[in-house]
Amino acid sequence: MDSQLQVYNTLTRQKEVFKPINPPLVGMYVCGPTVYSDVHLGNCRTFVSFDLIYRYLQHLGYKVRYVRNITDAGHLEGDRDEGDDKFTKKAKLEQLEPMEIVQKYTLGFHEVMRLFNTLPPNIEPSATGHITEQIEMVKQIIDSGLAYEVNGTVYFDVEKYSKDQNYTILTNRELDDLLANTRELGGQDDKKGRLDFALWIKAKPEHLMRWPSPWGWGFPGWHIECSAMSKKYLGDTFDIHGGGLDLAATHHTNEIAQSQACNHAEPAKYWMHTNMLTVNGTRMSKSAGNGFLPFELFTGDHPLLSRAYSPMTVRFFMLQAHYRSTLDFSNEALEASDKGFKRLMSAVHLLDKLPVAGSSDYNVQDLSKRCYAAMNDDFNSPVLIAELFEAVRVINSVYDGKSKLNLESLDQLRQLMKAMVFDVLGLQSEEKSEGDLTAIMDLLIRLRNEAKAKQDYATSDQIRMSLQELGIQLKDSKSGTTWDKI
Ligand code: AMP
Ligand code: ZN
Repeated sequence: MDSQLQVYNTLTRQKEVFKPINPPLVGMYVCGPTVYSDVHLGNCRTFVSFDLIYRYLQHLGYKVRYVRNITDAGHLEGDRDEGDDKFTKKAKLEQLEPMEIVQKYTLGFHEVMRLFNTLPPNIEPSATGHITEQIEMVKQIIDSGLAYEVNGTVYFDVEKYSKDQNYTILTNRELDDLLANTRELGGQDDKKGRLDFALWIKAKPEHLMRWPSPWGWGFPGWHIECSAMSKKYLGDTFDIHGGGLDLAATHHTNEIAQSQACNHAEPAKYWMHTNMLTVNGTRMSKSAGNGFLPFELFTGDHPLLSRAYSPMTVRFFMLQAHYRSTLDFSNEALEASDKGFKRLMSAVHLLDKLPVAGSSDYNVQDLSKRCYAAMNDDFNSPVLIAELFEAVRVINSVYDGKSKLNLESLDQLRQLMKAMVFDVLGLQSEEKSEGDLTAIMDLLIRLRNEAKAKQDYATSDQIRMSLQELGIQLKDSKSGTTWDKI
C-alpha cells in the first residue's frame, strides 16, 4: 500500500493525514440513537458509515476502542432545553415504564444493526447508567465559573465561555449570526444568555425520569452525557468523535464547550460527520414523518416501494455513496443497488471456480493499490466499489476463458476481494443459513404481533402475505406464531 489514510476533519474543514494520539490505539466515540422509538433508515446510514470506518481502521491494523452511546434520558422534543421529554411522552402513550420503552427500542436497534451486519461497539454506555459522572462534570463546570444554577436548573454560560474560547470552532459560524437566529429571552426565562444551554434540568412534576442532585431532583441535559461518557472511556482527548452532520451545530458544539470548560482540552482530534439520508431531497427524520423503518424495506410494506429489499442490498445502497455526500432514497436506486450487489456477489462466488493459467494478462497489484487509495481517501467506498466492479469484469472474463490469471495473481485477487467485500465493506453472502432466517423470522413475527396489538391489521396482513409470496407460511395458534417454508 502506497498511500496514507486521510480523514476529513470538520474542525479544520480539510482532509488530514490520520495520525492517532497513541498508535496503534484509536479511540472513537459515535453518538448513538435516542431509544424512544424505532431507528429509521437515516439513523442506520450514520451507523453503517461508522461501521465502515471502524472496519477499515481495524483492517489497517489499528486497535480501535469504539464507544457508541445509547441516549435513554434527557433528550427533549425538538432538541431544546424545555418541552416534553421524549421518553415520558412515549411511556404515557404506550402505557409502559420509561425504562421499558428504553429496553424495547434498544433491543430493536440491536436487531437492526445485526441484520445490517454492523460490528457491535466495544462499549455501549447509556446516559441513565452515568448520572453520577454527568453530575460530577456539571459540578466541575460550575467550579470553573462557566455554569450557573437558577431554580434547580444549571446552564452553561456561552457568553462568558466565548470571551476566551471560540464557541463556534466546529462550524465556523459568527456568534452574532447565531444570536440573530435565537429568540429573545422573555420575562419567565431563567437563563441569562440566549445561547446558554442546560447542563442539568429541574424535573417538572410530570417528568418520570429523575435523579437527586446538588440542585434538587432533575435529569441531565442532552449534551452532557456524551462529554461525560467519552471522558470516562476514552480520556480527556481522544482520536475520533463522530455522528450525523445535523449534530455538529448544536450537540457537538456544546460538547466541545463542556469538555473545554471541564478538562481544559479539546475532546477530539478529528471530528467526522456523516451526511443525511434524504427522501425527495428532504432529510429523513422522525419529526418530518418521512422516516422509512428498516423492516418496511425488508418486507416491502411501504407505498413508495415496489417490493422487499434485503438488508445487504440496503447496506450496499448506502455504501455506494460517500459518507459525506447526501444520499437520496428511492425505489429505483434500491433496484439498481440490488442488481449491482448480486453481480458483485456472483463474481465473488466464481473466484473459487476460476481456471489457473501459466501467465496473467491483468495486474492485480495495481488494482489492489487503487482499492487502498480509494479507502485511504477519506473512506471513499463508492470509488472502492467501482474498482471492485473492474475486478468483477476480470473475474467474469477469466471464467469465460477470454482472459487468464496465473496462480499468484489468482491468490492475490481472491485475498483482495475477500478483504474488501467482507472485512471492509462488511457485506455478507445472501445465501442465508437457517440461523439467519430464524432471526429474521423472529423479528418479522414480533413486528406483526406489535402491529396486531395496535389493531394495525393492514400491516399485519401485509407481512403475512408478503411472506407467503416469498414461500413462507405463518401459523397462528394459542401458544404463538410459528412458520414453515411452503
Ligand atoms: P437520534 O436517534 O435522533 O439521536 O439520531 C441518531 C443518529 O442518527 C445521529 O448521529 C443523527 O445525526 C443521525 N441521523 C438522524 N437523521 C439522519 C439522516 N436522515 N441521515 C443520516 N443520519 C441521520
Ligand atoms: Zn452525543
